[in-house]
Amino acid sequence: APCGHKLRRQFELIKRIADGECSHRCEICQNAKEQSEAEARGWGLLGAAPTRDVNYRTYRHSCGHEQMIARSNMQSGRFNCEACGQGWASAPSYIYCMRFTLPGQAPVVKLGFSRNPQSRLNYQLKRRPDLQAEILHSVAVPTGHKALCAEKQMHATLKRDHPGSMIAPEIYAPWLRVRSEIYSADLEPVILDMLDTLPLLPDA
Ligand SMILES: [Zn+2]
Ligand SMILES: [Zn+2]
Repeated sequence: APCGHKLRRQFELIKRIADGECSHRCEICQNAKEQSEAEARGWGLLGAAPTRDVNYRTYRHSCGHEQMIARSNMQSGRFNCEACGQGWASAPSYIYCMRFTLPGQAPVVKLGFSRNPQSRLNYQLKRRPDLQAEILHSVAVPTGHKALCAEKQMHATLKRDHPGSMIAPEIYAPWLRVRSEIYSADLEPVILDMLDTLPLLPDA
C-alpha cells in the first residue's frame, strides 16, 4: 500500500489516521478507524452487513450478541444491544442548559441531553477550546430514552412559544459543532424554569 501499512504497528496506524495522513481510500485505515469506534462503545467490528444498506456493519457486543448497526449510530452511541438492552436508551442521562459567548455576538444558550454534559461540551460541541462556555444547569434523568422524549417536548414548546429566539445555524456554525437547538440568551430563564419542572413531565 502507498501508506506502507504492512510495515506499521497498530498504534502507529491509529496515530496516522488521527493525524489525517492516510487517504480515505485506504481500506486498512478505514477498517481500523471503524474498529476503534466500535471498541470505544464495547463492541467489535465483524464486517459488512450484506442484508442492509452500505451504511450498516455487523458488530458483536461484549455480551456476545451480533447485530447490524448503522455506522453513524455506532459513532453517536444512539442504539441499544437487542440482546442485553445496554445502550443509550437505558443508560442514565442528563438534560442540560449551556450558555456560549460567541466572539462579537450576543450570548446564546443550548438545550440538550447527554450521558455526560461536561464531556459533550468540551470534546464535541466547542470547535475551539478557548470558547467561553458554561453548563448553567443539568438535571439527571433515569434513562436516555426519557431524556430524548422530554428534550423533544421542550424544543417543540420553545419553537412554538418563542420562534423569534431561535438562532440561525450560520451564526454559530464557526464555533459550535451542532446544527440546531441554539436559542438567544433571553430564553435562559425560560429553559431553566423548564428544567426545574422537568420531573413533573408525564412519562414518555
Ligand atoms: Zn492508510
Ligand atoms: Zn449486549
